[in-house]
Amino acid sequence: MSVVAAFAAFLTSRIVSTLLREAETARLQAADLAARLSEVNGQLEARVAARTEELEDALRRSRVLAGQLEGMTRRDFLTGLGNRRELDAALRAIDSRREPPHSISLAVCDIDDFKTVNDRFGHPAGDEVLRRVATTLDRGRRAGDLVVRLGGEEFVLLLPGAEQGQAAEACERLRAAVAALDLDDVSPGLRVTMSVGVATGGPGPAHPRLGALLGTADAHLYEAKRAGKDRVVTGKLDTGRPAIVA
Ligand code: GH3
Ligand code: MG
Ligand code: MG
Repeated sequence: MSVVAAFAAFLTSRIVSTLLREAETARLQAADLAARLSEVNGQLEARVAARTEELEDALRRSRVLAGQLEGMTRRDFLTGLGNRRELDAALRAIDSRREPPHSISLAVCDIDDFKTVNDRFGHPAGDEVLRRVATTLDRGRRAGDLVVRLGGEEFVLLLPGAEQGQAAEACERLRAAVAALDLDDVSPGLRVTMSVGVATGGPGPAHPRLGALLGTADAHLYEAKRAGKDRVVTGKLDTGRPAIVA
């Protein structure tokens, strides 16, 4: 082998070994990069998972708060009873039943001469009377019926499925319970009575007839007041003459 050929072979082997070293270095760097990339990816995924959990938790809490808020908008703060919104929701729920009731009764219960109670015994005593009457109505209602405070000294009793006679019986019982309330601890000698107007509707959707039920019940309440208060007046929705129960 000539000197030139030997030198060329030496040079070639140096070049090859340099290239191999560089390739190995590049492979190691690539492997290192891949490992760091995977580590960073892992960290990123963990942060995304933690953030997702935080967001889901915040969403859960905001749903609970929204539910509580919705519940609060349906409550009457003085008595703890439901309010007009609760009545509305109850009627919608009745309409969504698979088998809606074949009749529905609604009673408007109004405390008699309540202005005089406030005037004679004071507004705080009046508030306490409202709470006591609310409790009496709520404890005395039939299971499945609903009592809400419509406002002021007016309460509404909803009796799904009740025919006129059954509604009359239930309301008469509640009227008597209110009249029998011992309120001496609120103020000695304090007694209250209430008048009740009832409307009974036949089969058909309840919620669209809320206005009509309230209107007819109100007209019957007016009759009860006119006839001397502390009594129940019932009647069918839109048809029939009012009947005084007690
Ligand atoms: P009637 O027998 O015809 O129903 O007469 P009434 O005095 O009960 O009715 P009226 O509508 O003249 O008076 C209702 C009173 O109820 C007047 C109002 O000051 C009082 N009232 C309304 N809301 C409240 C309340 O939240 N607390 C108290 N203490 N009084 C209230
Ligand atoms: Mg009133
Ligand atoms: Mg009144």
